[in-house]
Amino acid sequence: MSTQLSHADWQKLAGDLRYETRAFIGNRFVDAASGERFATINPATGEVLAEIASCDAPDVELAVRHARDAYNRGDWSRLAPGKRKQAMLRLAELMERHKNELALLDTLDMGKPVGSSLGDMSGAIGCIRYNAETIDKVYGEVAPTGEESLGLVLREPLGVVASIVPWNFPLMMTAWKIGPALAAGNSVILKPSEKSPLSALRLAQLAQEAGLPDGVFQVLSGFGHTAGKALALSMDVDCLSFTGSTGVGKQLMQYAGQSNLKRIYLECGGKSPNLVFADCKDIDSVAENAAAAIFHNQGEVCIAGSRLLVENPIREAFIERVLAHAENMQPGDPLDPASFMGAIVDEVQHKRILDYIRQGVEEGAHLRTGGAAVSPVEGGLFVAPTIFDGVTPQMAIGREEVFGPVLSVFGFDSEEEAVAMANDSEYGLAAGLWSQDIDRIMRVSRRLHSGQVFVNNWAGGDMTVPFGGVKQSGNGRDKSHHSLEEYSELKTVWMSLAP
Ligand code: NAD
Repeated sequence: MSTQLSHADWQKLAGDLRYETRAFIGNRFVDAASGERFATINPATGEVLAEIASCDAPDVELAVRHARDAYNRGDWSRLAPGKRKQAMLRLAELMERHKNELALLDTLDMGKPVGSSLGDMSGAIGCIRYNAETIDKVYGEVAPTGEESLGLVLREPLGVVASIVPWNFPLMMTAWKIGPALAAGNSVILKPSEKSPLSALRLAQLAQEAGLPDGVFQVLSGFGHTAGKALALSMDVDCLSFTGSTGVGKQLMQYAGQSNLKRIYLECGGKSPNLVFADCKDIDSVAENAAAAIFHNQGEVCIAGSRLLVENPIREAFIERVLAHAENMQPGDPLDPASFMGAIVDEVQHKRILDYIRQGVEEGAHLRTGGAAVSPVEGGLFVAPTIFDGVTPQMAIGREEVFGPVLSVFGFDSEEEAVAMANDSEYGLAAGLWSQDIDRIMRVSRRLHSGQVFVNNWAGGDMTVPFGGVKQSGNGRDKSHHSLEEYSELKTVWMSLAP
């Protein structure tokens, strides 16, 4: 991926950066009540970037109070949608102006290549703009009554929305959550991942500059088991929107049940199948896409195409092409715009990926390339693109989400077998399908248990289409006007009219 700035430009920009390290509560940047801080580390170098305010239950309580006050005050929740739109467009404009800086913060915090982060920023800014532009085009309904009554169906904001997001696309996942929630008129409390808090805190500065009223958007930096848990257990949070692992998603549902039955939207993990039929067009280009589907963002992608299912007659030739493309997708310095892959987010994740690779070998899968840590930058955490062939659905690397650059290749002999293998997963987030046969494309697309199906592409789609999963990949839908619906509630007003 190319950017206009050179490697040296990005290094200089990184050296000049100043970080916001305090939480943003009630329109002020503050330390955590406890005074506690945690380190955020650049995984490409091992350097501590900053010590960040570590929020916990008392900070959550304060932020929720500010959020509720803002909601009751009504200077956002009851503001004309066209005026909310103006404020959100100002925010988008500020994000655009500081796009390089925001991209750099994500790259330094979690290791992804800066070219990739810039792509995320376009997505994040586009999401804020889309929701701003949509909100003043949403109408309520008038029910089909007789003359003696008037039935109105109004759309109202939910109240206080807490958004808990992961580290793999820090600012883009944030935008997918806060864009529709703010546009709908809610007060939003964001908890970024403890592994990537920097861009969220910078976003808070920009939201303040854009003039969002006090308490409408707040950012609580902190850990999941402290700040995240307190938000999920709060009796005064009306909705929890979450992107992260399936395990934590399950816990959050319990917290919602234990507290106030808050509405909960979950975008969780995946083990996405990518089905390549022998009649696909241009094997080499499909192979390049299949490699990018798993190696983009170091494989730390919820919709990573981690299970590659190839029709047996072309399997070996296809793998050869994937191997050739993987060779060009090696990790490099995330600040070098030429790097395809960057660093793995932290030591825990790095070890987890290497453990899965070892288990794959032990369980009898055939390692075709990679399989080891590499060091393009001294002190950094990197893993080479790794490809296993001869994987079975019983193997851990064939079933479980690795969340790293590890591709598992399976063979199949028939369409039926391919669909059965694809659906044999607890997840259902994304699936890919490569073929030129339109009848097969329609048949298979309908049969795949998946929130999205990519036909002759991987990860296609823009703001106009919903994004989310089925099964244990979750239940919410980000993007499109459907996400706006999720952050609002229908209210019926039934009026009796005099004859
Ligand atoms: P994670 O579940 O560990 O953490 C996600 C967020 O939840 C973080 O902010 C974390 O602090 C918080 N959290 C952790 N424990 C908590 C608790 N007990 N209570 C409240 N909050 C808690 O996930 P991660 O490692 O940050 O991200 C990787 C996971 O996210 C992968 O499983 C990936 O598939 C998933 N993901 C899904 C999507 C999607 O759209 N479906 C997108 C990106 C990532």
